Amino acid sequence: MDEIIKRALIDIVGEENYTDSLIDMVSYSKDASEFKHRPDAAVWATTKEQISAIIKLANREKFPVTARGAGTSLAGLTVPIQGGVILDLGRMNKIIKITIENRLVVVQPGVVYARLEEALAPHGFFFPPDPASGTVSTLGGNVACNAGGIKGAKYGTTKDYVLALEVVLPDGRVLHTGSNCMKSVSGYDLTKLFVGSEGTLGVITEITLKINPKPPLTLTTMATFDDLEDAGRAVSEIMYSGIVPSALEIVDQQTLIALNQNTDLNLPEVEAILIAETDGYTEEETEFQLAKIIDIFKKNNASAIKRASSAEEAEALWTARKSAYGVMSRINNNLFVEDLSVPISKMPHVLRAVSNIAKKYQLKIPTVGHAGDGNLHPTISFDGTNPEEMRRVEEASEAIYDKVIELGGTLTGEHGIGLAKARFMHLEHDEVSMDIMRGIKKLFDPNNILNPGKMALDE
Ligand SMILES: Cc1cc2nc3c(=O)[nH]c(=O)nc-3n(C[C@H](O)[C@H](O)[C@H](O)COP(=O)(O)OP(=O)(O)OC[C@H]3O[C@@H](n4cnc5c(N)ncnc54)[C@H](O)[C@@H]3O)c2cc1C
Repeated sequence: MDEIIKRALIDIVGEENYTDSLIDMVSYSKDASEFKHRPDAAVWATTKEQISAIIKLANREKFPVTARGAGTSLAGLTVPIQGGVILDLGRMNKIIKITIENRLVVVQPGVVYARLEEALAPHGFFFPPDPASGTVSTLGGNVACNAGGIKGAKYGTTKDYVLALEVVLPDGRVLHTGSNCMKSVSGYDLTKLFVGSEGTLGVITEITLKINPKPPLTLTTMATFDDLEDAGRAVSEIMYSGIVPSALEIVDQQTLIALNQNTDLNLPEVEAILIAETDGYTEEETEFQLAKIIDIFKKNNASAIKRASSAEEAEALWTARKSAYGVMSRINNNLFVEDLSVPISKMPHVLRAVSNIAKKYQLKIPTVGHAGDGNLHPTISFDGTNPEEMRRVEEASEAIYDKVIELGGTLTGEHGIGLAKARFMHLEHDEVSMDIMRGIKKLFDPNNILNPGKMALDE
């Protein structure tokens, strides 16, 4: 790091909040993806004034700044691919206000998702997006990635809950977007522009979120399917049957095999299992929805159906789904977690296509996902030291993207574009869309200092 810039950064955040030590730079060179690149320094900012000063300095001296929450991105969003400074927001971690009567909370960006859930629980409220990384990922990261999770089918994703934001812009000014109201159509929706913007347009320093009352009752069921497409058809049918499950998840055969090899769960190695949850305020309502789901499972040739009769049994049914990521990382040296999303009716087609692509390229691609909202995570396991295998991985990924786009789907449902899918943006977005997106980036950040190299914005 240039000595003058280093001194200036230390003047802003203090010696104790600056590092350029090798061990820290190696840690900050990675997120949860396979990408890596070292930054030149990292700072922990604790106020918007500090962030503004850092960004003004970056604009003057022309060095990149990458905001970072917990670094759990699976698509390289947080990797500082052009070096520069990591702006770690983990110490801006206060829940500023919970206002139950207005159904909203105000938080700093470094608050971990699970901490907010703990704070809301005594009030009988929750913040529904529920990413599987919620015990570590931050709300700033969740907003910047538009995180989703297992409750997406019923409750949507982060974008459905962000009411207002405070953002430090790339020129150092502080922008306030949105309002504290449940409804507003006042001016352009600048709030939504920042949700999912992957830290490329500004640094989020305060977040106002809508919260939901938490239905007190849940019921859980699991069904096995000998045919993957039957499972896909059951998903599609449930979602247009008139009820909305609070979760509807899929675990495929490759994942079940991996789970059996690495745990003592002893699961049936069928082509797929579906796990469904319903929630409600009365037993009748919750039961009615579950019965409908079980009927649809039967109609679509489920080979076995289990229904949890207690919270412990429900937890046991969820174990296969919740253990999947940890187990997949044991299959081979490297993992590439895909994040495709398709219209719900295309679920059977995409499930079969991924399975065929795995066979064609002789790869293991265990797949789990949020079937109820059409979002799947085929996870390619591979040995990154084997160039021939790497070539097959790339070809298989491209085949998956081509199929997803052919089915009217999208490259990413919740993990974002980042580095992983930047070069495939053109498959989904035509020249006009790319032109507008690059124009927005230039308008906000003419010197391209915020998280450069992501989303194909600076090509
Ligand atoms: C095991 C595992 C499970 C996962 N499960 C899910 C899941 O179910 N659903 C899901 O959506 N994702 C999931 N993810 C991906 C990841 O956890 C999410 O994308 C999460 O939202 C990232 O939060 P973070 O705090 O780690 O952000 P980081 O990874 O640190 O940052 C992500 C992006 O946000 C930007 N950013 C962070 N903070 C700010 C800020 N204050 N202002 C502006 N930009 C900012 C960064 O620059 C970067 O571009 C999973 C990851 C793992 C490892």
